[in-house]
Amino acid sequence: MEDDAFPLVVTERPRLGLCVLARVPFAVGEVLDRFCGEVGPELRQHSLQVRPGLHISGTRFIGYLSHGCDPNCRLDMARFELVAQRDIAAGDLLTIDYAATEDVLFRQFACTCDVDACRRWVTGRSEAVDAEGRRVLGHGPAPKHG
Ligand SMILES: [Zn+2]
Repeated sequence: MEDDAFPLVVTERPRLGLCVLARVPFAVGEVLDRFCGEVGPELRQHSLQVRPGLHISGTRFIGYLSHGCDPNCRLDMARFELVAQRDIAAGDLLTIDYAATEDVLFRQFACTCDVDACRRWVTGRSEAVDAEGRRVLGHGPAPKHG
């Protein structure tokens, strides 16, 4: 199937790695993608949590969405839909809040999304900040500052 048939595209960007862009505009509330994949108990790098203990992987797009603390999309895990949180222009990077669906992340990471509400360190919603995160956030054992 031609990739041109899809309104979304997976691409690779410096710093972000694999990410997803809109090819066409979407209005707030519109469904960008109805996804399917393999649902199972395994937490993988590009899997997303459907409900506690159950993860979907092998999706065409949603496994590659970037995290944003103020994202332009959200996942509806009951309907398996990716929904626009606000108006999206063609070419926009699509983001979701990883903590909105994930209890535990495959890997916690530093966020540089630059919104006022940026959490700076992203975890799943039910896990504690790890040692690296505590360093990034300035808690716990401090790294040497030059
Ligand atoms: Zn952020």
